[in-house]
Amino acid sequence: PRPIELLTSALEETAKERRHVEPKDAVVHWFKMDLRHTDNKALALSSNKALELGVPLICMYIVSPEDFEAHLRSPVRVDFMLRTLEVLQNDLAKLDIPLYVETVEQRKKIPERILELMDEWGANHLFANMEYEVDELRREAAMVRDLAENGKSFEVVHDTCVVSPGSLQTGTGKQYAIYSPWYRSWIAHVHGNLDLLDLFEPPAKNPERTRKLFTKLFDVPIPDAPPSKALTEEEEKKFHALWPCGEHEAKERLNKFCEERVGGYHDNRNIPSENGTSCLSVHLASGTISARTCVRTARDRNKTKKLNGGNDGIQTWISEVAWRDFYRHVLVNWPYVCMNKPFKPEYSNITWSYDEEHFAAWCEGRTGFPIVDAAMRQLNNIGYMHNRCRMIVASFLAKDLLLDWRKGERYFMEHLIDGDFASNSGGWGFGASVGVDPQPYFRIFNPLLQSEKFDPNGDYIRKWVPELRDMTSKEIHDPYNRGAGPRAKEKGYPKAIVEHKACRERALHAYKDGIESD
Ligand code: FAD
Repeated sequence: PRPIELLTSALEETAKERRHVEPKDAVVHWFKMDLRHTDNKALALSSNKALELGVPLICMYIVSPEDFEAHLRSPVRVDFMLRTLEVLQNDLAKLDIPLYVETVEQRKKIPERILELMDEWGANHLFANMEYEVDELRREAAMVRDLAENGKSFEVVHDTCVVSPGSLQTGTGKQYAIYSPWYRSWIAHVHGNLDLLDLFEPPAKNPERTRKLFTKLFDVPIPDAPPSKALTEEEEKKFHALWPCGEHEAKERLNKFCEERVGGYHDNRNIPSENGTSCLSVHLASGTISARTCVRTARDRNKTKKLNGGNDGIQTWISEVAWRDFYRHVLVNWPYVCMNKPFKPEYSNITWSYDEEHFAAWCEGRTGFPIVDAAMRQLNNIGYMHNRCRMIVASFLAKDLLLDWRKGERYFMEHLIDGDFASNSGGWGFGASVGVDPQPYFRIFNPLLQSEKFDPNGDYIRKWVPELRDMTSKEIHDPYNRGAGPRAKEKGYPKAIVEHKACRERALHAYKDGIESD
């Protein structure tokens, strides 16, 4: 069975036991990638349960350094999460709800520690939102059963997507493997079930006795990042200014984007030098805002009051947020995509080049392809890269350099502030033509044409590649072939490490041979 089936059957089989769980002294909500107290389904359910039983709600977050490693969390992402916990702790404290944070070094010890804590607190009810990565689904399936055996209930609910994975199927009962028909079905489903866009209330204030009963759980310090994920003081200063954290910041960003920029999204979203997109990905990835709130807010501004029709910018933006749902749907149905396997098995036999020098040049932004270098330097500098550029550098790595896409996928996870297994794996599948995208492998981006089309004046390149700052808008895309070689050389900008036309041919052969040998 797929991991999601393990969890759903564990939930179904223990449903009866859950109904008969004895009320005790507290109800617990376990925060994971849902670091907000508004519009959070499991948190709202746990608060309702606590109210029904007349007992306090305790919130908990487990920091696991091993988990950070397993999820390839970048230091900037870990820092963002830890800062966010502080905001969340303050918000909850205003409701007399403690957010207890504890470090558990080994990931496998988390379930047993949670059970111990629940016993210590006298809690028989645990709630959490579902995460769709394989390990999490398996762990939660086992926990549901273990807790049931211990006379406790564990409710794990769908929350992270607008439409939960598994809700949509083709007319013949199959799973969609192509975005466009899936998206039509997604829209129809939401329009037919408008309560999917109802937002959940924040939790109710805890009874007054909570602070006395659970004094020790209040004001528990948020731990520092483990050494392997720690930022330097200078980096901290930079990233804290660049990426303000927490759900209030997320909401403000969403509202400002919807007021000022969503209307122009359709036209501007592909221009990396424009501030044309929302930059909400780190918030969606950390759960400081829900996809539901995003879609609901944008929809409410559409004059059609629908997800489609009306304003071009709004409908395009909603369709992008839907991509996030789509890649979770893919992950749940084809879990091997997050286990280093291509969606299309016939793409497993491509002979990659494994040229470490090329890989280092790609990582460090010194390939001699200005748009690629600008993009990689943006990532290395601020932990974020514009979507158009993510597509360009992914295609460049897999097709021009013929490097194994998994190396790029991993590098992204290790450096992005918004690193997300499902979306990253989906994006790399697209860039390297090994994913759900129906486009054939012989669609190969030409980095020069991409550069001229999406950064026509070279403003994005100028920002991130200072060596090329004084080039004209023609020279900047290809200095060595446009008469600016001596100036580029003088500034230390490298010549192109490969020749696109020849690489294109090499990639076409390698992909074809790989597929045919399957
Ligand atoms: P906006 O354009 O404002 O879009 C709003 C939200 O919709 C985003 O925040 C994001 O949550 C979602 N979204 C938009 N486009 C996509 C998409 N193509 N796929 C999935 N969700 C999307 N996104 C991540 O969140 N984490 C990743 O690790 C990630 N890795 C990627 C790797 C590659 C190779 C590619 C091509 C794309 C990747 N994306 C990833 C998708 C996309 O690039 C980012 O979500 C987007 O650039 C974030 O900027 P934004 O918040 O301004 O997006």
